[in-house]
Amino acid sequence: MPANILVVEDEPAIQELLALNITQAGHNAIRALSVEIAQNLMRETIPDLILLDWMLPGMNGLEFARKLKSDPQTKSIPIIMLTARGDEYDKVRGLEVGADDYVTKPFSPRELNARIKAVLRRRAPQMTDDPIEVSGLHLDPSTHRVSGNQRNIDLGPTEFRLLHFFMTNAERVHTRSQLLDKVWGDRVFVEDRTVDVHIRRLRNALAVSGHEDLIQTVRGAGYRFSINND
Ligand code: CA
Repeated sequence: MPANILVVEDEPAIQELLALNITQAGHNAIRALSVEIAQNLMRETIPDLILLDWMLPGMNGLEFARKLKSDPQTKSIPIIMLTARGDEYDKVRGLEVGADDYVTKPFSPRELNARIKAVLRRRAPQMTDDPIEVSGLHLDPSTHRVSGNQRNIDLGPTEFRLLHFFMTNAERVHTRSQLLDKVWGDRVFVEDRTVDVHIRRLRNALAVSGHEDLIQTVRGAGYRFSINND
C-alpha cells in the first residue's frame, strides 16, 4: 500500500528530487512550497508521513512541526525534518517538538529512502512492503498474495488492506471508525456498517485456510486480530 508523503520544501530543485525519490520508492508525493500550501492540502488529504524542510518562507518547519504535534487531528502523523544544519543542538530541537527523524542536506537518495522506510515501519507498518506472517497466515504486500496452509487466499482490494492493517496492528482493538480512517482513508463517507460487510467477506475468505478465527469481534468495541482465542 503506497503511502501519501507530503513534501514541504521551498526550493523547487530539492522538492523535485524528493518527489522523484518518493515516487521511485513506490509512494505518492504531495508537494507544497510553504506551510500555508501544506495546510491547504491537508484539508483534503491527511498524509501518512511529512518530509518537512526546516527553513521555509513564512512559518518555518520547526514551528509547523510543533503545531502539528499539538493538534489531536495531526499529532500522529510521522515527521522527518530536512535541514542544512547539521549541529546537535538543532537535531535535539527538532526531535523535542516531536519529529520522528532528521535528515541533513545534502542527503543521498538511499539514505532518505532508508529513513522513510524506517519511520513507516515504526509508525505505519501497513504502509511498508515487508512480508508478514502470523500463525501460518502469510501476506506479501509486494506481490499482493495471501496464503495459509498451502492454500492461496483470494481477497478483494479492501479485504487485502484490512487484513494487512490487522496483521501489522495485531492484538489491539480497533473501532469501526478507526478502521475506516486507517483502511478506507480520511474523509471517506461510508457507514460503519460497511466495515462489518468487509469483515464478513474477509472471514469467509480466511476460512479457506482455517484462519477465520484470527478476526475477532469485541462486543461493544470493534474488531481485533489476535492469535489468542479467549
Ligand atoms: Ca528551505
